Amino acid sequence: MNATTSPVNQYFKALQLDETDSSLSQEILENCGVDIERCLECGKCSGGCSNTHIFDFTPRKIVQMIKIGDEKRLLHMDSLWCCVACHLCVDRCPSGIDIPRIMDYLREKAITKGIPATRPTVELFHNLMLDQVHKKGRVSELYLILNYNLKSRQYLKNAELGPQMFFKGKLNPIPARVKKMDQVRRLFRPKPGQKGEAR
Ligand code: SF4
Ligand code: SF4
Repeated sequence: MNATTSPVNQYFKALQLDETDSSLSQEILENCGVDIERCLECGKCSGGCSNTHIFDFTPRKIVQMIKIGDEKRLLHMDSLWCCVACHLCVDRCPSGIDIPRIMDYLREKAITKGIPATRPTVELFHNLMLDQVHKKGRVSELYLILNYNLKSRQYLKNAELGPQMFFKGKLNPIPARVKKMDQVRRLFRPKPGQKGEAR
């Protein structure tokens, strides 16, 4: 999928110059500490992205959409649920623009606004992982995989990898406890003006 064929374009028209607005880049600066204005439009992020072949909008394009305040399209795009937070784009960016941090912020914003994920299983995984961090302070891979397969009804997905990972010590059925859970929970505290507990 690419920007031309993305279903998002069926719903949102391109912004005219007099419809652009810089409030989203300001919001990203305040909430993520990322200054979009430092982008040089060099495209190294898109060239290095590990998943750009399935993105409907490339990382460089996403930065430009933030600059012009194209929020609706950003919150509905498929790329939001395809980013694997590998940080390759950040490593390549000469301006150090933290795109995965922005993707995290936009995903949370889409969830808060009730915008459905284009890839529900990715959202399910995201929620299950955050839920574990909130409850235990860390992720137990074994519990996460079992829970994910059960809830996504893909009961035997990757089952053949389980024994291999277990014998290589990659799956610990009893993960170590986190001592200072209060510090972890603080990460989930709502921001001023936000209702309920942030995830
Ligand atoms: S963090 Fe996301 S946007 Fe950046 S390279 Fe990885 S998949 Fe692409
Ligand atoms: S690599 Fe950085 S500076 Fe270059 S286009 Fe991407 S975000 Fe902008």
